[in-house]
Amino acid sequence: MRIGVPTEIKTDEFRVGLVPGSVRELAARGHEVIVQSGAGVGIFADDAVYEKAGARIVKTADEVFSEAQLIVKVKEPQQAEWKSLKSDQILFTYLHLAPDAPQAIGLMESGVSAIAYETVTDPAGGLPLLAPMSEVAGRLSIEAAAIALRRPTGGRGVLLGGVPGVKPAKVVVLGGGVVGTHAARMAVGLGAEVSIIDRSLPRLRQLDEVFKGRATTLASTMETIEHEVLAADVVIGAVLIAGASAPKLVNRAMLKDMKRGAVLVDVSIDQGGCFETSKPTTHARPTFEVDGIIHYCVANMPGAVPVTSAQALNNATLPFVLKLAERGLAAFDRDPHLAAGLNVKDGRIMHAAVAASLGFDS
Ligand code: NAD
Repeated sequence: MRIGVPTEIKTDEFRVGLVPGSVRELAARGHEVIVQSGAGVGIFADDAVYEKAGARIVKTADEVFSEAQLIVKVKEPQQAEWKSLKSDQILFTYLHLAPDAPQAIGLMESGVSAIAYETVTDPAGGLPLLAPMSEVAGRLSIEAAAIALRRPTGGRGVLLGGVPGVKPAKVVVLGGGVVGTHAARMAVGLGAEVSIIDRSLPRLRQLDEVFKGRATTLASTMETIEHEVLAADVVIGAVLIAGASAPKLVNRAMLKDMKRGAVLVDVSIDQGGCFETSKPTTHARPTFEVDGIIHYCVANMPGAVPVTSAQALNNATLPFVLKLAERGLAAFDRDPHLAAGLNVKDGRIMHAAVAASLGFDS
């Protein structure tokens, strides 16, 4: 199959659909890979590296869109890109269509078959193409907290791990899923005192096994959350209720009773945030202060580390890209989890939950 990789055009997106290592795997299986010149600049992979991996470099996005049978991207197509898509093409990328009717209509009008990373499933009921970005965001959340905690950035002036003779920081993680587990691992690794709060008892049991006493697990109640948050130097917001806005677990009234200069990192901000006072921020201006508490609410945290993020994403997407390259949409017959990713086909929304959110017929 002929597979195309255009340069990402969304603002501040430095990742790329296929890293050179993935191109090499596809080329070795006899597929033709067309890469737009400069597509890998954000991860420091220049055209020569892609050529060495077996890609053919083309100058423009138009050439990629007109020649490729399968287009592999990272971000949802922008308006200029919808117009270039065709009915005999497959698009494989993050789409996040539910809140984005203009994009949904654009994709329907193009006739393209669009498969969304975020709705591909796995046998355990997980979302394997979202998980790598949650792993990145979880680990990054502690790095962000460490910086925000410093006095020159407005924070409390506490070192996460303390030093001999001085207590470490107290880190409270709300939600012990993928983000929360990776945040807790980083915080434990740096020597912080860590507690993880989740509403799922089976999950807390698993975490207890994983951390073997290095992190405290607590069942989620209003009282527990309040007690832990008021004693915290850092709170990581990492809750998710699938398909719904994040619950507001920390309200504004609690801030005045927290430690001065404590840090709230709201990773759940892409679902509206789990702190009442959160609002989305960018990597250029990641933090703001409310009532003496520093808030970090960057909505695309993995974008700060595109080299790691693009590779992590490719590790998860490549097996599916290989199946699509081998069999096209017939790959769905053997892989219902890949089929769950199909959002748009023949001008219709194919995913029931996405259609319901958009108010369209599926
Ligand atoms: P996940 O489903 O693996 O984990 C969520 C956890 O929250 C679950 O264990 C669930 O039991 C728990 N939970 C739900 N309601 C709770 C409550 N009231 N109290 C305590 N725990 C509760 O999800 P995830 O992959 O870890 O993602 C977490 C959030 O991070 C999502 O909103 C995701 O979209 C977001 N995220 C943001 C970025 C970013 O750049 N900001 C990047 C990746 C993921």
